[in-house]
Amino acid sequence: MSYVDEIIEQVIKQNPAEPEFHQAVKEVLESLRVVVDANEEKFRRDALLERIVNPERQFKFRVPWVDDKGQVHVNTGYRVQFNSAIGPYKGGLRLHPSVNLGIIKFLGFEQIFKNSLTGLPIGGGKGGSDFDPKGKSDREIMAFCQSFMTELCKYIGADTDVPAGDIGTGAREIGYMFGQYKRIRGVYEGVLTGKGLSYGGSLARTEATGYGLLYLTAEMLKCNGETIEGKTVAVSGAGNVAIYAIQKAQQLGAKVVTASDSTGWVYDPDGIDVAALKEIKEVNRARLTEYKKYRPNSEYHEGKGVWTVKVDIALPCATQNELDLEDAKTLVANGVLAVCEGANMPTTLEATEYFQKNGVYFVPGKAANAGGVATSALEMSQNSERLSWSFEEVDSKLKGIMVNLFHNIDNAAKKYGFEGNYVVGANIAGFEKVVDAMTAQGIV
Ligand code: NDP
Repeated sequence: MSYVDEIIEQVIKQNPAEPEFHQAVKEVLESLRVVVDANEEKFRRDALLERIVNPERQFKFRVPWVDDKGQVHVNTGYRVQFNSAIGPYKGGLRLHPSVNLGIIKFLGFEQIFKNSLTGLPIGGGKGGSDFDPKGKSDREIMAFCQSFMTELCKYIGADTDVPAGDIGTGAREIGYMFGQYKRIRGVYEGVLTGKGLSYGGSLARTEATGYGLLYLTAEMLKCNGETIEGKTVAVSGAGNVAIYAIQKAQQLGAKVVTASDSTGWVYDPDGIDVAALKEIKEVNRARLTEYKKYRPNSEYHEGKGVWTVKVDIALPCATQNELDLEDAKTLVANGVLAVCEGANMPTTLEATEYFQKNGVYFVPGKAANAGGVATSALEMSQNSERLSWSFEEVDSKLKGIMVNLFHNIDNAAKKYGFEGNYVVGANIAGFEKVVDAMTAQGIV
């Protein structure tokens, strides 16, 4: 049996009931086959794949908090410190009822390669909790965040592990967590990114993932003789990534006609109104059913359906496995040209393969959404210097990073004979740097 197959089998056996983690490992290792096969003897001797699929460390802890009626609740908190070969662990904190160890491990594993692709010195980690922020009062959110950080603060620090936001963890939650870290540890340091501007946050961090997605998409299209201008785009999600992806797509001359949330989706033939979307989601924290009040010409539909709309470009920006084989078939039948992932692993393996077989340009999340973590690393740099850069400076660095990143994955794919396969390109380019650093640092 090949080394890759052996490790996939081992991961499934040793980590039962963690399907998302299995899926991520499979996706990455399958596309590394060509590199692993070429170095099999050395990699086997160094147990390199065993080391890369096993987190360096993982924490699971109790998070008790009291609601507004005096009722105590207990959630589970996680932090997985996956790989620190190229820098301090870096990766977001997800607050969502679906969170479990397998999901955090899938995200942490992906994060290793994504962070490597940014070209910046950051290792891979991820964390979160099964706490559901929906419908909670500000005080309840604060109570949860303080309790969560009371335990998490033992394991993180500006030079060891620097968490950030993710689903359910926005500026408000980061603020409460930062306050509690400072209070307990007594240090004012850049231990979290995605902070507010008044206490060490970076300009353009809020926009970074969505903007970065579009900078990369535009570069990818340009290199394939296409342009984003005049294209029709479907975006899923209505959160941080989706909102700024829509905004930048519109600035670049595309028309975005959809957005969605966990209960339904909107189709706006005249192009999504970003100001309305921001008010509904960022200010009122309401459902997308509200959108029709702002745009009477739009349609609201319950459930899933964004991928049934005829578009040139699809940008899944909500959550994992939200675009399956059936969706891929519909998009291809409707003539989709490109799919670039704003979310982490939103496309199932079967759907990805279907796109690739049908000549659709497909860029995986670990490359396409790396703008968020790249800008988090720029926030860390600003915190270390105790300086803040202008919006334009951060945005232009972000653009440079995303353009370079695209060329790195494109070149890695070409080097190994997989021209145009950006999944293989991203995994190889991310992997090579991490392996190089791990090898240099010995068996640790
Ligand atoms: P948000 O919480 O801001 O938004 C998530 C959006 O997706 C919301 O509109 C939410 O709906 C919707 N959603 C969540 N779960 C589901 C579900 N099960 N089915 C349908 N819709 C769902 O998160 P972000 O925008 O920050 O993150 C989106 C994705 O991008 C995630 O995969 C995240 O890991 C990834 N990502 C985020 C980065 C960042 O910088 N924020 C960086 C890199 C990747 P509702 O409004 O109803 O909650």
